[in-house]
Amino acid sequence: MFDHDVLIIGAGLAGMRAALAAQTNGVDVAVVSKVHPVRSHSNAAQGGINAALTDRGDDWRDHAYDTIKGSDYLGDQDAISVMCQEAGQEVISMEHMGVIFSRDDQGRLGTRAFGGQRQARTFFVADFTGQALLHVLHEQVLKAGVRVYEEWFILSLIVEEGECAGAVVMEMRSGDVHVIRAKAVIMASGGLGRVFEPSTNALICTGDGIALGYRAGAPLMDQEMVQYHPTTLKGSGVLITEGARGEGAYLLNSEGDRFMKTYAPNMMELASRDVVSRSEQTEIDAGRGIDGCVLLDCRHLGEQVIREKLSQILEIARDFAGVDIRKEPIPIQPGMHYQMGGIKTDVNGLTAVPGLYAAGECACVSVHGGNRLGANSLLDTLVFGRRSGQHASDQVKQKSFASVTDASADSDLANIRRLLKNDDGGEMFGRVRQELGQTMDKHLAVYRNQQGMEEALAKVRELKERYRQVRVQDKGKTFNTNLIFTLELGYMLDCAETIAMSALERKESRGAHTRTDMPDRDDENWLKHVLVKATPDGPQIEPLPVVITDWEPQARVY
Ligand SMILES: Cc1cc2nc3c(=O)[nH]c(=O)nc-3n(C[C@H](O)[C@H](O)[C@H](O)COP(=O)(O)OP(=O)(O)OC[C@H]3O[C@@H](n4cnc5c(N)ncnc54)[C@H](O)[C@@H]3O)c2cc1C
Repeated sequence: MFDHDVLIIGAGLAGMRAALAAQTNGVDVAVVSKVHPVRSHSNAAQGGINAALTDRGDDWRDHAYDTIKGSDYLGDQDAISVMCQEAGQEVISMEHMGVIFSRDDQGRLGTRAFGGQRQARTFFVADFTGQALLHVLHEQVLKAGVRVYEEWFILSLIVEEGECAGAVVMEMRSGDVHVIRAKAVIMASGGLGRVFEPSTNALICTGDGIALGYRAGAPLMDQEMVQYHPTTLKGSGVLITEGARGEGAYLLNSEGDRFMKTYAPNMMELASRDVVSRSEQTEIDAGRGIDGCVLLDCRHLGEQVIREKLSQILEIARDFAGVDIRKEPIPIQPGMHYQMGGIKTDVNGLTAVPGLYAAGECACVSVHGGNRLGANSLLDTLVFGRRSGQHASDQVKQKSFASVTDASADSDLANIRRLLKNDDGGEMFGRVRQELGQTMDKHLAVYRNQQGMEEALAKVRELKERYRQVRVQDKGKTFNTNLIFTLELGYMLDCAETIAMSALERKESRGAHTRTDMPDRDDENWLKHVLVKATPDGPQIEPLPVVITDWEPQARVY
C-alpha cells in the first residue's frame, strides 16, 4: 500500500496543473497516469487557449457573455465568471513558466480569432498549443518533486464511510494490483471521445474517470451534450483545427458556395461549433456535399501563413488524406470531439462525494453548457485544475488517513480473475467496442430523434449484456493490453448509457442536443441541467436549475 495526501488521477493539463498547485501548497502529491504524461490527449490540442486581457481592450465580461451564448444558456454563469476572470492570469503564468506563445508583429503575445467570439482572444503556439503547455507543466511537476506513477491504470475508487479514501491501481508493467491511500483524490482523467467512432480523440479517451466517479456515487451532469467539431478529416476523423478558419479558411459545398452565409451571415465560418456542424450536415443531407463531406479551403491563406501557423494541418492533411492544402481544399465532416458533460463539481472541483474532486474534461463545472467554445477547454483544465489542487491541499492539512487496507483491492482482483477465466464462447472486446462507437455515432450525433435515441439505448444495454461474457485471450501479467482495453470498454459502456438516457430525457433542442422531432429551445421547461446518478436500481435522472447571474437567455443568432 502507498500513502499520499493528494492523489491525482490523470497527467493531462488538468491533472498536472492540480499537482503543481497542491505540491507548492506543501502537501505530498502523487499523479497516476495510464500513459506517459506527455502522451495524454492534452498533447493533441492544436488551436489555442482563450483569455480576455484588459491591455488588449478586451474584458472578461465579454468573454463570459460569448461563453454563455455559446453554451446556449446552459452553462452556470457563476462558474463561467470565475473561469473568465482568472483566464488572463493563468495564461500569463504559463508564459512565465516557459511556454513560448506565438507573437504578433509588435512582439506581444499574438491572438487568433476563434468561433463564437466577437474578439480575437485565443492565445496559441502555432497549431500545437497543447503540446507546448503540457511539456512545460510536466517539467514543472517534476521539478516540484511530485511522484508520478507512469503507466499505472486505475481500477476503482475507494469510498470509506461516504468519503473517497484512495484508489485501487494496476501497475501495467508487472500486472500487480496496489492500493493507494489518499486524503483527497482529484479525478483528471480526460474525456470519453472513443465512446463514439470515429472521434478526434486519442484511443485512450475512454471515459474511465467519468465512469469511476459515477460508480463511486458522484452524479454526472449534462451527459447528453456531446460536441461534434465542424472540421474533422474524411474517414479517419482526425481533427483539423478551428485555427484554420480562425486564420481565414472557408467552407464550401459541392456548388463551390460559401454556404455559411445562409446560416450565420455575421460570423460565417466562425459561428459556434454546434451551429457550423449543423449547417454542414444540412448541406450534406440536402445533396450539396461531396461523398458525405464538405470542403475546407485554405488555398488563399498563402504559403507563409500555412507554414508558420498551420504546419501540423499541412502534414495531417497530406499524411491522412493525401491532400496538399496549399493546392486543394480538404474534405471534412462534423465529427465527435468533446464531452461537455461529466462529473458534477463546484467551482473548487468538489463533487458530491466528500474527498473526491474532478477537473478538466471529465468534470462538469459547468462552463460549457450545451456547446463549448473552441479554446475554452484548455482554459477550463488549467483554471479548475489549479483550483482543485489548491482546495484539496488546504483541506488535507487537517485530515488523517482513513483506515483502508489491502482488502480494498479484493473485488477488482476477483473481477480480473473472472475476465481471465471467461473462456467459453465469449467474444473479444473489439467487436463490442466497434458496435458501441458506430451506434452512438449513428443515433447521438449532430441530429437526433426519439426513435434513434431509443434504439441507441437498447443497443447499449444489449452490449452491456454481451460485455459480461467477453473473453480476454492474453492470460499474461506483463503489459496485458488485452485486459486493459477490456476494462476500458466497461467504463465506456457506462458512459454511453448515461449519454443516451440523458439525451432521451431532454425534450427540446439546445446547443449540441438537436432533435429533429423537437427543434425548438424551450426555456420555460428545460432551462435546467440533467443529472444522472448510479443507484442499486440502475441509473436515476434528476433535474437541477441553471445558475443565471447577469445574463438572461436570449435568442441565439450568429
Ligand atoms: C485533437 C484535439 C484538439 C484539441 N484542441 C483544443 C484546443 O486547441 N483548445 C482547447 O481549448 N481544447 C482543445 N481540445 C480539447 C482539450 O484538449 C481537452 O479537453 C483537454 O486537453 C483535456 O485535458 P484533461 O487534462 O482533462 O485530460 P487529458 O489530457 O485527456 O488527460 C487524461 C489523463 O488521464 C489519464 N487516465 C485516464 N484514464 C486513466 C486510468 N484508468 N488510469 C490511469 N490514468 C488514466 C491519462 O493517462 C491522461 O494522463 C482538443 C482536443 C482534441 C482531441
